[in-house]
Amino acid sequence: MQWVPLLESMGRVLASPIRADRDQPPFARSTRDGFACRAADLQPGRRLKVIGQVRAGERWSRESADPLPASGPADEIASGEAVEIMTGAPVPFGADCVVMVEHVEECSGAIQVREGHELSPGSNIVPAGAEARMEQVVLPSGLRMAPAQIAAAAACGAGQVSVFARPRVAILATGDELVELGDQPQAHQIRNSNSYSLAAQLLTAGADPLRLPIARDEAAHLQSLVEAGFEADMLLISGGVSMGKYDLVEQVLLAAGAEFFFTGARIQPGKPIVFGRIAAAGGPRYFFGLPGNPVSTMVTFSLFVEPLLRALAGQPYSGPRFAEAVLKTGLRGKPGLTRFLPAVLHAESDQTSITSEVEPVPWQGSGDLANTSRSNCFLVVPADHPVIDAGERVTVLL
Ligand code: AMP
Ligand code: MG
Repeated sequence: MQWVPLLESMGRVLASPIRADRDQPPFARSTRDGFACRAADLQPGRRLKVIGQVRAGERWSRESADPLPASGPADEIASGEAVEIMTGAPVPFGADCVVMVEHVEECSGAIQVREGHELSPGSNIVPAGAEARMEQVVLPSGLRMAPAQIAAAAACGAGQVSVFARPRVAILATGDELVELGDQPQAHQIRNSNSYSLAAQLLTAGADPLRLPIARDEAAHLQSLVEAGFEADMLLISGGVSMGKYDLVEQVLLAAGAEFFFTGARIQPGKPIVFGRIAAAGGPRYFFGLPGNPVSTMVTFSLFVEPLLRALAGQPYSGPRFAEAVLKTGLRGKPGLTRFLPAVLHAESDQTSITSEVEPVPWQGSGDLANTSRSNCFLVVPADHPVIDAGERVTVLL
């Protein structure tokens, strides 16, 4: 746990709750530009005298020159009176509603409500303390800070907030064909992009990525780097989990005493994913062996790794983020595995409605980063419903 300046808490998990340091709103707040008055006075034909104005940042009180009403204190409006008020300003005492400026006739220092715009008490006013009471917990610990939470903390006066340390997640790319970003690949070699996609996904998920050197497809080398990886809170391995002769990850993990929770998923891309844990000093370490194909690595991170990170941080709603959309052009696939196709999700709107539409991007399969980078989601094709017509509702993975 550590204290950080408010903005640095973005994406991190709160370690202690943030309470309201005063009522929110601190005063009865007008939600409209208009006139504060008594709802019972708002009868068509009845004229209310406008006795002053209150802007946001002010508090209304009767000018000393003004005659005092027959009864009531000086900063309270009486029956038959109205105060012009701006959105966000404190509603004067004695008023119980704000009638919108559009709903009155103004004439020589008085207003009259237009027929059909009479109000009941409380209209267009947020009472003091209605959003949060002083000392009430506004942001409980365990919450992940995002823009709305940052704003709520600022409203509570929390300039420094306490957050949990980011989980440290080691990334181990495996493969004899891989070269690092700074090196010139030969024709038969591939650049290690998975360490970067995983690091980027981890940063987005609020974790602290630690990129290890590339592991060769050789048991002893792999084993030494796997051991280094288990120093972190979690280990993500990419590649080496398929059925090939040089896919050694499972074997090395087994030899290290790993317990596997699953060793495959009925999805494409991503079928060979493995997940488990290993006993270590200071508590078990979770690991994933993610398939090496770059798009498979990203999809399996979103489906499995990110939800686990959120769950371990104690966050509610930790599952993958799915949404619904309408398929733009029909799809023909084969049954068997649930498929995830890189796709573009966009909104179509007319005067009355907004529809989310989704369309797969043309691609060359799970190694195709160039085309996947044109997508903003993955279209989910159910295993038992691989033929989908244009206009059908589908699920997308965000
Ligand atoms: P594997 O799961 O090890 O069989 O890897 C499948 C394919 O994914 C390999 O043939 C590589 O082309 C590609 N690949 C594996 N690891 C990486 C990586 N770290 N970065 C980019 N591509 C990779
Ligand atoms: Mg490999």
